[in-house]
Amino acid sequence: MSKVLILAEHLNGKLNPSTARCVSCAQAIKAEAIDVLVLTDAPDAIAAEAAKIAGVTKVLTVTNAANAHALAAIYAPQVVEAAKGYTHVLAPSTTFGKDVAPRVAALLSVGQVSDIMSVADAHTFTRPIYAGNAIVTVQAPADQILVATVRTASWPAAANGGSAPVEALSVNVELPTHTRFVELAQGKSDRPDLQSASKVVSGGRGVGSAENFAIVFKLADKIGAAVGASRAAVDAGYVPSDMQVGQTGKIIAPELYVAIGISGAIQHLTGIKDAGTIVAINKDAEAPIFEVADIGLVGDLFKIIPEIEAAI
Ligand code: FAD
Repeated sequence: MSKVLILAEHLNGKLNPSTARCVSCAQAIKAEAIDVLVLTDAPDAIAAEAAKIAGVTKVLTVTNAANAHALAAIYAPQVVEAAKGYTHVLAPSTTFGKDVAPRVAALLSVGQVSDIMSVADAHTFTRPIYAGNAIVTVQAPADQILVATVRTASWPAAANGGSAPVEALSVNVELPTHTRFVELAQGKSDRPDLQSASKVVSGGRGVGSAENFAIVFKLADKIGAAVGASRAAVDAGYVPSDMQVGQTGKIIAPELYVAIGISGAIQHLTGIKDAGTIVAINKDAEAPIFEVADIGLVGDLFKIIPEIEAAI
């Protein structure tokens, strides 16, 4: 039987919903135990949130001042130590998980299964390849620990309603000294988090400039949405790179996705494959985005957006 250890993602004392999505994946593995590992300097609030996720067997906390910031080099050896006795180690396929999991796999001398979309059995999974244009079934060896990242957009967050016990764990490992936290440069925003928001408004090259992007932010604020962007908009310097949606940006699954001045290149569409309703605003009626859009508005975004705003 499988015993799954999920590495919790958290920031500023709050658990990221990606952790509950990993729990859904672990449930599909039909694990007899699903434990959540919280590495932090202040575990209480995060562990309490993790304990509430239905399906979690127990929450393990490793409290150490060195864990105050999510440094992959510092986290990985502790995860390896905590993973003794487990058959699977799962992390979300977010910037955080994609940073830590490969180091964990390397320290365990095993390969990594990336971006689990669905589970056939405890060692057989589907995952996207070629920017999501093909889905491949992969099988990992059953006689060794399995390290994997979970494509969060493919899994619903496991519901709340659990009451798992929380246990403090001490891991006896020497932490590397070659990596230390210096500074977190992070955009400050009151808007919802791009990766977990239910509504996202994104702007592309068609928005034209950093100043013009105000029109995208304004619409997003009006409907309580997070803001994303195409790579062309990021490369042009309109917005920072942490807002990029797509193959080399964030993979998201909001209920509503509004693409403004975005042509719909395959690398962008990869990031919104699992979105619910897609609304596209583009002046080119032939733009590929209209092939995937549920609602398409052909016209100048600078005319259409104020009209939408006036109507809502
Ligand atoms: P464009 O393709 O230039 O489209 C701009 C659109 O705006 C056009 O359709 C135009 O009709 C419309 N427009 C212009 N003015 C107006 C107006 N006034 N009103 C309404 N519409 C208007 N791209 C990503 O987005 N994310 C990724 O993660 C990503 N990863 C990549 C990885 C690789 C390896 C490669 C090779 C490419 C990647 N790309 C990615 C880039 C991708 O191929 C496209 O170049 C990019 O998505 C184009 O961005 P865009 O749609 O904003 O720009």
